Amino acid sequence: MFRQCPGQDPRNLKVETIVCSFCGYAVEFFSDEIKTICPACRKKVFRKKMPSCVDWCRHAADCIGREKLTF
Ligand SMILES: [Zn+2]
Repeated sequence: MFRQCPGQDPRNLKVETIVCSFCGYAVEFFSDEIKTICPACRKKVFRKKMPSCVDWCRHAADCIGREKLTF
């Protein structure tokens, strides 16, 4: 069976906290998310370091779902 990128294995899904660069709120990120909306100031928060293959992989949209790539 074809193996997915290890970063997208749901068993490896972790929650980490990224501090919002606009208001300082601690925003929870799942490890498969690149960006999310800060619940405090409603601005887009981007994960600073990008350990995920979805940044460069041209199959990213099919791999994790197009709705996660486009906001
Ligand atoms: Zn914020």
